[in-house]
Amino acid sequence: MKITVPHMGNVYIAVKILFDGLGIDYVIPPLNNKEALYLGSKYSPDEICLPFKLMIGNYIAGIKNGADTILLVGSCGPCRFGEYPELQHKILEHLKYNVEFIVIDAVKSIGLRELFNRIRIVGSESRKTLPGKINSVIRAYNAMCILDDIESQAHFKAGYEKERGECKKILNFCKEEVLSCDNPDKALKLLKDYQDRIRNVAVDYSKKPVKVAIIGEIYSVIEPFTNLFIEDILMDMAVSTRRNLTPSWWLKDMLLKIIRLNSRELLKASDEFLPLCIGGHARECVGEAVLASREGFDGAIQIFPMGCMPEIVSKAILPTISREKKLPVLSLIVDEMTGEAGYMTRIEAFIDLLERRREHVFAWN
Ligand code: SF4
Repeated sequence: MKITVPHMGNVYIAVKILFDGLGIDYVIPPLNNKEALYLGSKYSPDEICLPFKLMIGNYIAGIKNGADTILLVGSCGPCRFGEYPELQHKILEHLKYNVEFIVIDAVKSIGLRELFNRIRIVGSESRKTLPGKINSVIRAYNAMCILDDIESQAHFKAGYEKERGECKKILNFCKEEVLSCDNPDKALKLLKDYQDRIRNVAVDYSKKPVKVAIIGEIYSVIEPFTNLFIEDILMDMAVSTRRNLTPSWWLKDMLLKIIRLNSRELLKASDEFLPLCIGGHARECVGEAVLASREGFDGAIQIFPMGCMPEIVSKAILPTISREKKLPVLSLIVDEMTGEAGYMTRIEAFIDLLERRREHVFAWN
């Protein structure tokens, strides 16, 4: 068995650390790029959302590099995500690719026994003892949490750093170095070292950068190619950003959902405007906008793929939040046709608006 996985933000680094630790044969497809988008768009239904198309592109790249099994997470939720594995399997079959799908689905959909069964199939490829396997999983989970923390600190501190560009440099070096390391213990050590480095970046908290919350559909906010590297763009503009939705957040949320203790703060914040789960992360998006206004953010940027049903609902609610909570919100819709120039212009204009608005508010206070 040679496993491949689709890209979802920085998850590929934790996956690499996991499989290196377990000694399982795997292929990490090239990071999302134009070719993945081209192939995915060519073979997917036109109206399906962008993450689906990019995943098809990732699978084809993985299969061409010898993968015969696809491992992905699933959810039988009310949005299209619940249909992904079935439909993607059919498309690959139609293309005459002979691959197995292992879907790590939500417990409420497949039950605990089936979930363990699927995990066991993956684990059976490893020659490690049970404690060794558990250790590999814990190490990969720690790696995921540390990397999310490094990213989060880098994105927020970019507005306060004394030496412009330092946070971005550390973040990029970190990903490159960890990815090229095949020893999982060393990779984790490297991550911890980078976590210290980012923690110790020289900052000037007397600066007053524009602070923006990045909200929206989880895949589009965590996957840089999909959002046209918005966090990098904002770091270059010395804007401080915060994004709650991360791979480690997602994992904790999934697990805590079993006992209904997931994302309490976010969901409570969304209650006033969207008290029901409508699929995807629409409720979280609404909750994040409310929290951003409470926590003094200057604005929020919502990103979601064209045709994303849950985010269309939250987009319709955001103008009310914007008006009532005095939080400017920019909604960016991405698909395979998104043009870089128009996208950049909208971001620059929005940041410009936030800066002027703040000057105006200060002038009146
Ligand atoms: S949340 Fe939106 S983009 Fe993601 S699978 Fe559902 S409909 Fe598609």
